[in-house]
Amino acid sequence: MKIPPRVCSFLWRLARQCLPTRVNLTTRGIPCDDTCVMCESLAESHMHLFFVCTKAMDCWDRINLGNHIRELLHRANDFTIMLFDFLDRLPSYQQHAAAMLLWSLWKSRNIKLWDSLDTTTASTVSRAKDTLHEWRCMQRARPQPQNQDHITSWKKPPEGVLKCNIDAATFSHNTVTGFGMCFRNFKGQLLMGKSALLQSFGSVLEAEAVAMLDALLTAIAAGYHDVMFETDNKILADAINSSFV
Ligand SMILES: [Zn+2]
Repeated sequence: MKIPPRVCSFLWRLARQCLPTRVNLTTRGIPCDDTCVMCESLAESHMHLFFVCTKAMDCWDRINLGNHIRELLHRANDFTIMLFDFLDRLPSYQQHAAAMLLWSLWKSRNIKLWDSLDTTTASTVSRAKDTLHEWRCMQRARPQPQNQDHITSWKKPPEGVLKCNIDAATFSHNTVTGFGMCFRNFKGQLLMGKSALLQSFGSVLEAEAVAMLDALLTAIAAGYHDVMFETDNKILADAINSSFV
């Protein structure tokens, strides 16, 4: 998707259900009220905050995706599957708008949480549109790099092989570590997604290593054979590929 890198990174954390929503924090034993910051009525899970909350639905209706989400909600029981299902069915221009709005909803939620400021539906939608527009203008204005070898994108594994992507991140002032993984087949279809929150590790490398171990155990438990594991942590990848491990 041609969207700002910070939105890509946000989407990745969202798909892993790794954002510090109040339900996520309370589930991990971090004491706090689990009520949604936006509507102040229901528990703030990922599903609620982005697809069920009346504040979110007002925004989705404003960009004409509200009914599409309501339809998916009838059969959704897993947030990650629903998110992929939602985005996969949209044409690319709407995928971009939806990704930007997801990011903007999270931003409005954080502004309310940390600054006690309400953001109107119109402003949340405008921020999503304006940020994408500004980023595209900047992209057009920038000289295109001659050598694009360094730009990496997800590549499908060979036929018959699965690929597992793993990532870890720290947030809440490094007190919480989150990691996630997703398994895809050679067609790029999502087979399984998993995420977890842990009390913080000493370093991102340790968190990445724990995530990799969890991914290996998950693949074994699921009976997956021929799995490629991909991490963006070069030190971990080098360590695993070296003869010293
Ligand atoms: Zn709510």
